[in-house]
Amino acid sequence: IDVVSTLQEAKEAARHEDYLMVLVDVNFTETSKEELKSFLEDIRLPLFLIMEEEEKKFLENLKRSTIVDVVYKESPEVINYIVQSIHRIYRNRTTKVLIVDDSDSDRAYMRMMAENQLYDVCEASDGLEALEMIGSDQSINIIVMDVHMPHLGGIDFLKYIRERKLQNELAILGVSSDEESLIRFMKLGGNDFVCKPFSRGEFTTRLNKLAEVYEYIKELDELSSKDYLTQLRSRKYFYEVGTPYVYDAYKRGESCAVAMIDIDNFKYINDTYGHPVGDVILKRLASILHGSLKGADIVARYGGEEFCILLRNTDEASAKIVFENIREKVQEEVVSIVHIPQAIRVKFTISIGMSTHVRHSLEKMVAQADYWLYQAKKTGKNRICFQEEYETKLPELV
Ligand code: GH3
Ligand code: MG
Ligand code: MG
Repeated sequence: IDVVSTLQEAKEAARHEDYLMVLVDVNFTETSKEELKSFLEDIRLPLFLIMEEEEKKFLENLKRSTIVDVVYKESPEVINYIVQSIHRIYRNRTTKVLIVDDSDSDRAYMRMMAENQLYDVCEASDGLEALEMIGSDQSINIIVMDVHMPHLGGIDFLKYIRERKLQNELAILGVSSDEESLIRFMKLGGNDFVCKPFSRGEFTTRLNKLAEVYEYIKELDELSSKDYLTQLRSRKYFYEVGTPYVYDAYKRGESCAVAMIDIDNFKYINDTYGHPVGDVILKRLASILHGSLKGADIVARYGGEEFCILLRNTDEASAKIVFENIREKVQEEVVSIVHIPQAIRVKFTISIGMSTHVRHSLEKMVAQADYWLYQAKKTGKNRICFQEEYETKLPELV
């Protein structure tokens, strides 16, 4: 952020620097109105204006379309709004908006308003074209859509898309002059609407709000599916994604493997070196696990010093090799940690319980793996245990 206090300095700065936007406090006492007006009209950067409400007539004579926001100095609270708004506009540059309308002029008008807010904008002229575009471009997260269109209108588009894309994948703003269909649009999974005809302010405020809420939902989704310390998947994610997969694998007769992994004598590590060292060990193990698997496999922190893994489409022999490699890698790992009074080198081991007998539920496989983890601990730790023969009697499970 560069701050200048005269128009001359502003001109100078704008000549040499590449700014995201120019924030101007419109104040007529120091500079003549005409001079300021010509500066604002000539500068090519997006403008953010702050003014007294009495000065708003000034805007009507300003010949330019790229004013991203105007704020009246009515309370100190507007400072917070200004900061938020700049953040929003900053993030808009990497937010892709698809505008869908069969009217060329309406589409152009909405495109102009969205581009004013620095959104990355693309267009489609009906629902079918929109479907094609979101199919080929995963970065489209926000759609502004006319409700009435030939080929595939907004209502049918929603019915189709909401069966496939959730609210955290796609946010949709409905546009129409027909209020009744807008309400229907909302009930079918639309996120918000604007009624035609709308003002520039109304459209951009709704669009920015939608983008903000969409980001919040995405962030919440991220938070709940990730473990904060290790950045691995959470237990919630493991079950959410793993459960339907295991069910399908069972029906298709496909093999898969589940492992429960627990650090050996972890309490001793914590008690001897302290919890921060324990945390470093947890993170190191997480990175070993993550680095040993293929993209489609799931590795999650189950809780505490326990981790779980789901290997897709993997039979018992291959799974055993994967987990044995992991166990060996951990056994050989030396973790160097800066520690007062001197640096320390810590070694650790893990025990693994594995289940490769695909059941209709992931939960059952986890319970099996957990049983074998218990056996691994009981028989000396730093080893893998699993049921070698499917025919032998399975242990009782609750
Ligand atoms: P075993 O070999 O039988 O698994 O023994 P253990 O000491 O590893 O197991 P125990 O269940 O007795 O101890 C687990 C410890 O893990 C206790 C708990 O304080 C610690 N722990 C759980 N979560 C964290 C964490 O996030 N950070 C750290 N540093 N320690 C944790
Ligand atoms: Mg343990
Ligand atoms: Mg444990």
